[in-house]
Order: sequence, then C-alpha cells, then structure tokens
Amino acid sequence: MSTHAPAGRYAPSPSGDLHVGNLRTAVLAWLFARTTGRRFLIRMEDLDRAVAGSEARQLADLGALGVDWDPPVIRQSDRRGRYRDIIGRLHDEGRTFECFCTRREILEAPSAPHAPQGAYPGTCRDLTEAQRTERRAHRPPAIRIRADAAEFEVDDVLHGAYTGVVDDFVIQRNDGTPAYNLAVVVDDAAQGVDQVVRGDDLLSSAPRQAYLATLLGSPPPTYAHVPMVLNAEGVRLSKRDGAVTLADLAGEGVPTSTVLARIAHSLGLGGRTETVDLPLLADRFDPAALPRQPWILTDDEWV
Ligand code: GLU
Repeated sequence: MSTHAPAGRYAPSPSGDLHVGNLRTAVLAWLFARTTGRRFLIRMEDLDRAVAGSEARQLADLGALGVDWDPPVIRQSDRRGRYRDIIGRLHDEGRTFECFCTRREILEAPSAPHAPQGAYPGTCRDLTEAQRTERRAHRPPAIRIRADAAEFEVDDVLHGAYTGVVDDFVIQRNDGTPAYNLAVVVDDAAQGVDQVVRGDDLLSSAPRQAYLATLLGSPPPTYAHVPMVLNAEGVRLSKRDGAVTLADLAGEGVPTSTVLARIAHSLGLGGRTETVDLPLLADRFDPAALPRQPWILTDDEWV
C-alpha cells in the first residue's frame, strides 16, 4: 500500500445510506485534508455490518456532494490477513493475553484500585496456562492488549491536548474478528494517514488507538473530533429520525445542493440558501472558527 504523501480519510461502515450527520463529517474530513495538501482516502469499515449495495450508494452520495478521493477505496474485509499478522506479532512480543470474560462479568467485577470507571478489571491478565486451557474448553477467548500505560495523551485540533484511559482493550473479538480499535490503527498507519477527522463520539477511543500506534512503531495521527449532528431531542441523529439521507430528502423535494448549503451554513461557511461547492468552502475553511457545539437538525431546516 502506498505511503507517500500524508493523508486524511473518511472511514464509513457500509451498513446503510449515509445520513446528514455522516455526510457533514465527511465534508469536514475532506476540508481538513484538502486544505492541508493531504491525500484524501475512503476506507470501508466493513468487518461488522456490511449491507449489500450500501458501499456503492455511500460513494455515490459523497460524489454528489463534491467529495472526491484518491483511489483505491479499501475494504477492511480484504485485509484480515494483515490484522492477523499484526496480532501475531503483538502476541510474539508478549503484548497480548486471552480473555474469557463475558461483558456481564466485566461489568460486575470489582474494579482494580485506582482503575478508571469502565476500564477492564484485569480478570484474565495473569491466568496460568492450566487456567487458560480449562477456560478454552468453555468459551473461545477474545484477545486483549497487555497495556503498560493507564492513560495516553493525544493532540486534537479542536480539543487540544486530550488525555484519556488506556486499559487492556480488546484487539480481537472472541468470534475471531479483529476489533475496530486494532483495524483502524493498522490501516491508518499502512495508508499513511496522519490526520484523523471523525465524530467526537470517538474522542475517548483516540488515546487507546494512539497508544497502540506507538506500540506498532507508528507516530499517532493528529486528530480533529468534530461535533455531531443531533435530532430535536438532542440525541445523535440516526436513520430513525425521518428524512435524513440524500435519497430521502430528494424524495421530499430537497435537492442535494440544498443539503450542502445547510451543511455549509451549520459550519459557518456559507449563507443558508447560498449556492456553494467544496472548493469555495475550502477557501473559507478555518478550523479555529468551526462551531464547537453539536448541530441540532430539525425538519424546519429544509423549509
Ligand atoms: N467506522 C467508524 C464509523 O463509521 C469510524 C471510525 C473512524 O473514523 O475512526 O463510525
């Protein structure tokens, strides 16, 4: 995989059509990358829930907004061998352990002294070989990283220096699927991604991912965790919120150009009904001036 010029990226899960919140994050990722001379990559995070046809529709919708990208689009499902190799390498370095805990056992376990809320309590960290053999007969293990840090600091354009928890997080689930936190780090490093722009619901994952990058010998990227789009109740926008995809909105008479205008307006980059395109938004783009609050999207927005 090429690693020449540094890159930014957008990494959707092809589990359905992109909604206005996803599209706004994609526009921001494009703006951050293109205004800093980076390549812009699209990566399909399809290890979990891939819905047939949704990759093509997502790419078409991004294209309709004017988001362009540097080919090829890669798919995580094509890279399982690579993840397996990296997990094997971490294992050989003594950096992993098998974990047999259920979610419930983890929630109910007394947390280790000084451990932050929600951190893995360490139950399986020091099992003997005999204990592991006994447990394997009942349940296939997940694989966790043996973290030697409790927290890690990342650099975020919008949040500044952000320090968050690093626990012994899962890098391979017990069904054998590589965990998101592993795949994202392996791929960003392999693709030369040094700028990660995504929704701020993932800010608390960044320290774990940056820590793992350093274990793998890659410098962590710079992050920009951008505010989310919320519905009228203040809950993260989802497809249950009515007409929120380009196709839904077109069906209600709202053209894609209007969707882009409202996204631009919400970012302080254009008038509410102004005709805009991405190069124009790039000329106006200033990360320091971006709104730091979520965008509350109501049906009135499209009137
Ligand atoms: N695939 C993740 C999502 O759709 C994004 C992961 C990332 O940008 O690091 O929420």
